[in-house]
Amino acid sequence: MNILVLAEHDNSTLKDATLATVSAARALSSHAGGDVHVLVAGEGCRPVAEAAARIEGVAKVLCASDPAYAHALAENVAPLVAGLMADYATFMAPATSRGKNIAPRVAALLDVAQVSDILSVESADTFTRPIYAGNAIATVRTLDAKKVITVRGTAFAKAPASGGSAPVEEISGPGDAGLSTFRGAELTVSARPELTSAKIIVSGGRALGSGEKFHAIIDPLADKLGAAVGASRAAVDAGYVPNDYQVGQTGKIVAPELYVAVGISGAIQHLAGMKDSKTIVAINKDEEAPIFQVADIGLVGDLFQVVPELTEKLG
Ligand code: FAD
Repeated sequence: MNILVLAEHDNSTLKDATLATVSAARALSSHAGGDVHVLVAGEGCRPVAEAAARIEGVAKVLCASDPAYAHALAENVAPLVAGLMADYATFMAPATSRGKNIAPRVAALLDVAQVSDILSVESADTFTRPIYAGNAIATVRTLDAKKVITVRGTAFAKAPASGGSAPVEEISGPGDAGLSTFRGAELTVSARPELTSAKIIVSGGRALGSGEKFHAIIDPLADKLGAAVGASRAAVDAGYVPNDYQVGQTGKIVAPELYVAVGISGAIQHLAGMKDSKTIVAINKDEEAPIFQVADIGLVGDLFQVVPELTEKLG
C-alpha cells in the first residue's frame, strides 16, 4: 500500500523538510513497495501542491484547500489525515514543530504507536531513531498495520525538487473540528537564511552577555559568511535572542556545511542539535570546553577579541 507524506509549507512555498521526508518515504517504499503521495493541506495552497508534484519520486499529490487548514492547526489536520489513511499503509511527517504536533494525533486516531524522529529505514517495519539526546541510537520495529512516522530532516538527503510530474487531486476533508482557533503568529522577520536549511550557521552562547553584544558580535560575522544565526538555550533563556534561534535537543536540529559555535560550552543538549554539521568551528576561552571534542577547528581565545578580528579578516 502507498505512503502518505505531509507537506510542510506556508500556503505559498514548499519547505525543504518535505523533500527529506519524501526521501525517507522512498527508502521505505524500496523495502515495502507502494507509491509516495504528498498531502498539501492549507488554504489557497495550489502553488504548493504544484511544487510538490515536481518532486522526483512523488506519484500523486492530494491538495486539501480549506480555511480550516490555513494555519495547519493539528486539531483540524489530524482528522483529515486519519480519514485518508484507509487507503494508505504509512503516514510520514517531518519531525518539525508542525509534524510533531500533527502526527501523534493521527497515531492516536488510528490507535497505533508512532515511530518518532527516524534516522534510517532498515526494512519494511524497522527503523533507527536517536535516544538520550542522540547519545544512543535505538533500532525499533513496529508491528502496527498502519505506520505513523516522523522523520528527522537532517538524516535524509533532500529529494530533488524538480524532475517529477505527478497529478494533483483536489480533495476535501472534515474541515474545522471546532477544538481550536488561530489567533495570530509572531514570526521573526529576517533577511538571513532560515536556520534549518542554511548551509552556514553562526551560533552564540551565554558568553555574549547581552542581546546587544550578541548582535554586535555575531551578526557581522554571520553577514560576512551569508550565514543563519543560531543560539544556545542559555542565550535564549537569558533573552539575548528569541527562542526560534535555539539549536539543540529542545530547539532546532541542524546539519549545515559549517557551524561556528561562539562562546558555547558544548553541553550534550546543544550537541544533540548540531553535531552532524559537516565542519564545526568552536571559539571558546576555555580550552577544556566540551565543544572542542566535537570541533574540527578550535580557537581558544576571548570571543570579544577574536570574533571581530576574524570578521574583519574575512574582508
Ligand atoms: P554555558 O554552558 O554557560 O557556556 C558558556 C561558554 O562560554 C563556556 O564554555 C565559557 O568558557 C565560554 N566563554 C565565556 N566567556 C567567554 C569569552 N569571553 N570568550 C570565549 N568564550 C567564553 N541547550 C541548548 O543549547 N539547546 C537545547 O536545545 C537545550 N535543551 C536542553 C534540554 C534540557 C532538558 C536541559 C536540562 C538542558 C537543555 N539545554 C539546551 C541547556 C544545556 O544543558 C546548557 O545549559 C546550555 O547549552 C549552555 O549554554 P551555553 O553553552 O551558551 O552556556
